[in-house]
Amino acid sequence: MSHTAEIIAVGTELLLGNIVNTNAQAISESLSTMGINVFWHTVVGDNPQRLREALEIARRRADILITTGGLGPTYDDLTKQTICAAFEKKLVLHPDILEDIRAFYEGALHVAMPENNTQQAELPEGCVVFDNPVGTAPGCAFASGGVHVLMLPGPPMEMETMLRRCAEPYLRGLSREVIVSHDIMTFGMGESSVDELLHEEMRHMENPTLATYAKPSEVRLRSTAKAETLEAAEAMLAPVVAQVRAALGDVVYGVDVAGLEEVCLRLLKERHLTLATAESCTGGRVAERLTALPGASSVYRGGVVSYWTQVKADVLGVPREILDQHGAVSEETARAMAEGARRITGADLAVSVTGVAGPDPDERGVPVGIVYIALATPDGTFCRKMDSGRRRRDRIQGLAANHAFDVIRRYLEGLPI
Ligand code: ATP
Ligand code: MG
Repeated sequence: MSHTAEIIAVGTELLLGNIVNTNAQAISESLSTMGINVFWHTVVGDNPQRLREALEIARRRADILITTGGLGPTYDDLTKQTICAAFEKKLVLHPDILEDIRAFYEGALHVAMPENNTQQAELPEGCVVFDNPVGTAPGCAFASGGVHVLMLPGPPMEMETMLRRCAEPYLRGLSREVIVSHDIMTFGMGESSVDELLHEEMRHMENPTLATYAKPSEVRLRSTAKAETLEAAEAMLAPVVAQVRAALGDVVYGVDVAGLEEVCLRLLKERHLTLATAESCTGGRVAERLTALPGASSVYRGGVVSYWTQVKADVLGVPREILDQHGAVSEETARAMAEGARRITGADLAVSVTGVAGPDPDERGVPVGIVYIALATPDGTFCRKMDSGRRRRDRIQGLAANHAFDVIRRYLEGLPI
C-alpha cells in the first residue's frame, strides 16, 4: 500500500518569515527517497486552536503526519499536548527519559535541570520513543485509526539526527517494499538535450522511474525502483543505468557520486598522481572544492590564486610577451599558467582557469563568459575554451570550476578533452 504524508511545521517564527522552513525540505527529501508521497506542507504558528485545525485537516487526507517544532519545554511548545488532545491520547511520564534529560543538563551543560523540562519526559501513551542524542526533547511516533503521527523537534540538527536514526527506520517498517535509487551524474550536456535523448524511455517508465534534475551546471538523472527485496530493486535498476550510459556516453561521469571533484580525487589516487591549481576568475573554487574532500592531501599539492596579471607573471612565471601579446584571458596565458603551476609545485598535473566572470568584459574586450581552462601534464598541455554566454558571475565561476574538473577527469580517463 502506498502512503501519503503531510508535513506540519509548527512555529510562529516560520510564519513571520524569521526563519526558513528547511525542516520541511529535509523531511520531504527523505520521504521521497523512501517512496512516500508528500502531498502537503503545512505551516502553523504556536497556537493550539490552529494547530488542532491543521491536524484535523491533515488526518483526513494523509495517513502519515510528521510534525516538527514545539517539543521544547517552554509555554509556547504545545505540539505534543495538542496532538494528544486531537488523537485522544494520554500523556504519560517516562522516568527514564526524565533521568536522561537531567543527566544531559548536568553532564553536558553543567547546570541543574529547570523544572519545566519535566514535561519533555511526558509522551503519548503507547508511543515509540525517538531518542534525542543531541538535545533534550525526545520525539515519538504512534498510530491511531490508521494514521501514523510522528513528532520531531524544531532545531534542524536535532530534527535531522532523529529523522535518520528513528523516523526513517519507523517509516521503512510500515512498508514491505524497498525503494532504491541511483543518481547518474552528467556534465557537458544541457537538460533539454538529455531529455531529448531519453524522453521516449522516460515517458513509459513507471517502475523503475527515471527523472532528470538540472543543477546550475550539470544534470543528474535519478532512477528509482520499488521491489520486495534490495536485490530485486538493484536488478531492475542495473539495465536502466546501463541504458542511460549507452545513450549519453562519456558525459556520464559517475553514479552515486556527489560531484566531479570526487571522481577526480579517486582517479588521481588510483593513478598515484598529484595535482596543482592556478586560478584566476574562479578565485580558488577549484582548490576549495577539492580540499573539501577528505583525503585530498594525498593528491593535492597546492595552488595559486593569480588574480592580478603581475602575479601571473611573477609567481607563475607566465612570460611577459604572452601577457602583452594575448592578454590575461587567452589560451596562451592559460597554458602558461598551468605549466607554471606544475613547475613550481612539482605536481604531476596542474590545471589553470582564466576568464571573464563579468559583469563587465575585460580590458581587451573579451566578452563575459569566455574562460580558458588548461591542463599541464607529462603528455603535454591541453586547453579547453568555455563560452557560457552572459550569466550571473557566480554561475560562470561555478561552471568554470566544473569544466576544470571535467578536463582533469577526461585526461585521467583517457577521453578526448
Ligand atoms: P526547543 O527545545 O529548542 O524549544 P522545539 O522542538 O520546541 O525545540 P521550536 O521551539 O519550535 O522547536 O523551534 C526551535 C528552533 O528550531 C527555532 O527557533 C528555529 O531556529 C528552529 N526551527 C524550528 N522549526 C524549524 C523549521 N521548520 N525549519 C527550520 N528550522 C526550524
Ligand atoms: Mg521551542
